[in-house]
Amino acid sequence: MAGDKEHLGAKREGDGSVKTLVVASGKGGTGKTTLSALFARFSAQERPLVVADCDVEASNLPLALRTEVTSREAFAGSEKAVVGEDLCSGCERCLDSCRFGAISTLVDGTARIDEWACEGCGACATACRHGAISLEPRQAGELLGGECSTGAIVFGQLQPGQDLSGKLVTSVHERAKALAEERGAELVLIDGPPGIGCPVIASISGADGLLAVAEPSLSGEHDLRRLVTLARQLRVPVKVVLNKSDLSAEAAERLRATCREEGIELIGEVPFDSELLPTLERMAQGDILEAKPVIDIEESPGVSAARSIWERIENWLAEPPQARPASKALIQLSRTHSNGS
Ligand code: SF4
Ligand code: SF4
Repeated sequence: MAGDKEHLGAKREGDGSVKTLVVASGKGGTGKTTLSALFARFSAQERPLVVADCDVEASNLPLALRTEVTSREAFAGSEKAVVGEDLCSGCERCLDSCRFGAISTLVDGTARIDEWACEGCGACATACRHGAISLEPRQAGELLGGECSTGAIVFGQLQPGQDLSGKLVTSVHERAKALAEERGAELVLIDGPPGIGCPVIASISGADGLLAVAEPSLSGEHDLRRLVTLARQLRVPVKVVLNKSDLSAEAAERLRATCREEGIELIGEVPFDSELLPTLERMAQGDILEAKPVIDIEESPGVSAARSIWERIENWLAEPPQARPASKALIQLSRTHSNGS
């Protein structure tokens, strides 16, 4: 599948020669996953890569790339109190120890924990003189791996109501990078989560580049500014793609002006293209897959624009990395976010 294009970058000590590109947007619905899937297809024709979907609350890239899951690992969430009914005497001492009102008693007097209300502080376990309460980790989601139409893929699925998305995203990111090094891949292409919260910080920390996908609207401009600010705080080089660029001439012009003001390169524009999604669907169904090189994908304005943009991105990634020492405060900020939600 891979061709003989020039390597994306010089070898770097510690992390092999793997480059990491994150495709992100300040909010959902900008076409970020569609573009990520197309870029993965273009890239796979030239060089081995690993793709990762860091949107652990709604991972759509595995669907767009026709994924076969080959591994599943439980992702442990926070600890919750558990009562050993055989040991519980029904003394109710633990009830007062819980500041979160998570403990009640059953008709037979034994203690019962509401795991949605339990914060895992352990106060009840300390209070119980019968050793009836222990803290146990609960599964918060899954870390999944597999093979897709462009090679290896890693993604996560967080269970509803869980708030550890940043931590799971960090696991996805790290697993993808380790897999890329193991397989000799040159690129990790990450479809990032929407927004600018902890999952996005966990996705882009340490990346070689952030491709911010923006759409021409007032909110798109606002979201782009926030994402660019975050990328700069994390010392991650950023470039912008204007997607659905012909939906509003006025808003598109404002967005171009925003890029100029911010000193950010607008690396390309993709017009609205109703053929993009059907093309991806056909890819997922397998009629435009390994047998045909990507050049044979039916040309449409969107596919054509995305391919040109991908060529520019590859040139960008092949540039020598700029010195961008992150401050201790920022490293700490990133770690704090990746450990929590
Ligand atoms: S303190 Fe221990 S023994 Fe008493 S009700 Fe609570 S769990 Fe049961
Ligand atoms: S671990 Fe803390 S929050 Fe959970 S039930 Fe015990 S005291 Fe309440």
